[in-house]
Amino acid sequence: MQVALESRVSLESELRYALSLNQLSLHYQIQVDIERRIFGMEALLRWNNPSRGYVSPSVFIPIAEESGLIVPIGAWVIETACKQLKEWESIDYASHIVLAVNVSTRQFRQLDFVQEVKDALEKTGANPTKLKLELTESVVIDEVSNTVEKMQALRSLGLNFSIDDFGTGYSSLTYLKQLPLTQLKIDQSFVRDIVIDSSDAVIVKAIIAMSDALGFNVIAEGVETNTQFDMLREYGCQLFQGYLFSKPVTAEEVDVILKENHLLFVEKATNMATASKEI
Ligand code: C2E
Ligand code: MG
Ligand code: MG
Repeated sequence: MQVALESRVSLESELRYALSLNQLSLHYQIQVDIERRIFGMEALLRWNNPSRGYVSPSVFIPIAEESGLIVPIGAWVIETACKQLKEWESIDYASHIVLAVNVSTRQFRQLDFVQEVKDALEKTGANPTKLKLELTESVVIDEVSNTVEKMQALRSLGLNFSIDDFGTGYSSLTYLKQLPLTQLKIDQSFVRDIVIDSSDAVIVKAIIAMSDALGFNVIAEGVETNTQFDMLREYGCQLFQGYLFSKPVTAEEVDVILKENHLLFVEKATNMATASKEI
């Protein structure tokens, strides 16, 4: 316990300087449609610590949450994501990209959260309709009326909302109809065993049916194999994210992936046009 405590304390003190020392960066993981056409990305925070190497977000995000450091870090994430969106806006093969950003409970609960997002959008000139905020069920479940108010204020600016890790939280379905959501993100734990565990398959089908009925779109995360991809498509899932398509990569690497994907679909369209002329 002593060792664990000491390592947590030293991680926290190092994390305190990570922003000013430029050790934080965003990686991007592509999101695709049924034809594997890229329509969006998720921004995932990375901490490159000079002595520890890359520290996993699942280790440092909880520390950032507990210590309150998530507030300045989260603000930096939103501004950096907006800058990236603005950059993509001027590139023909990237201008359609919708960027999803994770928002933690403590960050969302800040009184000036809506203003913070507005400021980032104004400062960077990014298009708000291209920004999507991922909230977890635990963020939205308590203080529902306050949450709805904040979400509505952001929706009126044009932002979209997705519920991350859907199905793993409090599973209260009443909030679903109260919140101005656009997307549910099926948690990767259900996708992982979809092929071998029939109850996971049933849960995934139910989430898709519910999303359809409520008018949300649905994205599956953690898609690693073609069998999972095929099964999800068969169940009516339209959007996907996972190592099968790409791991999270740097902005430079994602640019190459975007360009290749764009060319592939231009080529497909040209081939189809040629084939129909021949017919
Ligand atoms: P998340 O938002 O649910 O992100 C998905 C996680 O699954 C990411 O882990 C991603 O790298 C990983 N992943 C993607 N595809 C696959 C796959 O096919 N198989 C498997 N096994 N994993 C896959 P990562 O980057 O380590 O992030 C972990 C969590 O840390 C995120 O879960 C999110 O809750 C949190 N996080 C990351 N960036 C931020 C951020 O900027 N702000 C906040 N508040 N939280 C963040
Ligand atoms: Mg997420
Ligand atoms: Mg998730």
